[in-house]
Amino acid sequence: MRPYSGEKLCSSCFCRSVENKVRAAIAKYDMLRFDDRIAVGVSGGKDSMSLLHILTRLERSFPQAELIAVTVDEGIRGYRDEALKIAEEGCKKLGVEHVIVSFKELFGYRLDELVERLHDKKKNGGGLTPCAYCGVLRRRALNSVARRCGATKLATAHNLDDEAQTVLLNILHGDPLRIARARPVSSATHSHFVCRIKPFCEVLEKETTLYAYLRKFEFQNIQCPYAPAALRNDIRTMLNRMEEKHPGIKYTVYRSAERLGSSIENAVKTERLRNCRICGEPTVNEMCQPCKMLLNLKSHKR
Ligand code: SF4
Ligand code: ZN
Repeated sequence: MRPYSGEKLCSSCFCRSVENKVRAAIAKYDMLRFDDRIAVGVSGGKDSMSLLHILTRLERSFPQAELIAVTVDEGIRGYRDEALKIAEEGCKKLGVEHVIVSFKELFGYRLDELVERLHDKKKNGGGLTPCAYCGVLRRRALNSVARRCGATKLATAHNLDDEAQTVLLNILHGDPLRIARARPVSSATHSHFVCRIKPFCEVLEKETTLYAYLRKFEFQNIQCPYAPAALRNDIRTMLNRMEEKHPGIKYTVYRSAERLGSSIENAVKTERLRNCRICGEPTVNEMCQPCKMLLNLKSHKR
């Protein structure tokens, strides 16, 4: 593993080392073509702003490639508005086209409204956290907008910490086959899917954070009010503690999943994708997960 080198390098060498890690991951996983139109998911946080900066630098060497930033406004009062402004100004400074799409326009509800329904449902024995809804709907939103923009790739800022957390989450949710799907490059199995890439998959969160500070660009620094309720949050704390005691353990989890993923990939590939009977998006079941979730909440009598 290439070690975390933040303490040993001057700021410009450190930033270059992060950019080189991204270049290496792009080459290793064959993420990009010279003429890709790349939609970048930009939330306004440190990871996505760092990714946008790095991809903008890389794009200069590929004149036929294009970048377009996509921000999803989930509708989280007191949190997303600031992030939207930061993302908008950051894109303007970098000269990158910026598209904003909201849960309200795509799904008919702000996340805050869905959470209210969720709370009512919980009183009656319901179950999922706001992040479970948000994650599924945001993935759908990003894919729809990327497709609408004619993007050939969809880049997200998931870093090594996120990837290691996702491995453990999938196991704890009893869904180990998802490990095969959470690869640095998605294997697009339906014409409605835009191929998803994760150029930060081998970069630690503390590296993207330091990069953002050293490059001195603005990013949102507050946590989403719904984050503490998520299981991911507990896994993040646990992995951070373990990494401190056993440096390199996050990378080990990531590598183990990579090995496991190649072995179970065939089992996952045999799943036949069809079109959701409600929205027409690709799904393995008769109805896709976003439609199932929304219908479930709508059917709840308040
Ligand atoms: Fe959505 Fe959860 Fe992230 Fe907040 S923390 S933006 S609710 S996934
Ligand atoms: Zn659907």
